[in-house]
Amino acid sequence: MDTGLALAWVRAIALAVRRDADQLTQLDAAIGDADHGVNLKRGFSAVEQALDGTGFGTVGAVLTRTGTTLVSTVGGASGPLYGSVFRAAGRELPDPGATAERLLVALRAGLDAVRKLGAAEPGDKTMIDAFAPAVAAFEKALRGGADLPGAARTAAAAAEEGMLATIPMIARKGRASYLGPRSQGHQDPGATSTALIFRTLAEAVRP
Ligand code: ADP
Ligand code: MG
Repeated sequence: MDTGLALAWVRAIALAVRRDADQLTQLDAAIGDADHGVNLKRGFSAVEQALDGTGFGTVGAVLTRTGTTLVSTVGGASGPLYGSVFRAAGRELPDPGATAERLLVALRAGLDAVRKLGAAEPGDKTMIDAFAPAVAAFEKALRGGADLPGAARTAAAAAEEGMLATIPMIARKGRASYLGPRSQGHQDPGATSTALIFRTLAEAVRP
């Protein structure tokens, strides 16, 4: 991945978030406060502006700017959480380009950051339930000899599966946890946006 590809990925996230904002907000209306799509749309629109017309020398600089912009523009829980993901990932990518192995290190750092900040475990019905299987699948694919497009595709499929697996879960973190067992039967909004982020990664690196 080079700087241009990183920019294309983040811009594609912004586009997809705009397209899916209503769906993300509706999911949040069922088990939260109906603002997840609105939050991410505001955040990634600000990210698009922050990335416009600025030169970035490294992949990490693109992701770090994305993270700091999300933290400062998104009020909900997802702002600081996604903000810390992109900032932590960005710290691991200090070069103009990044190999698939380096990207794995960055993804793992992003996952660690959100786990540390949000203290959610797999099975708590959060973005972790899409994020953790995606990173695991990315690693497994690389170990099996896949290239970056192949690993990203596998990760996107795992994120999607993890997203769907949140439906029967009872929320134990965030606003949805206030509902207890009544959160069952609904797909987690954050896991849905995480699946979107991995889907756009797979599309951005597709040969
Ligand atoms: P808010 O809950 O403040 O309204 P959003 O609606 O933007 O924020 O985001 C909600 C999503 O954030 C949830 O669907 C869940 O995936 C994620 N989330 C909430 N709390 C946590 C946490 N502690 N750890 C990981 N993810 C979390
Ligand atoms: Mg919300």
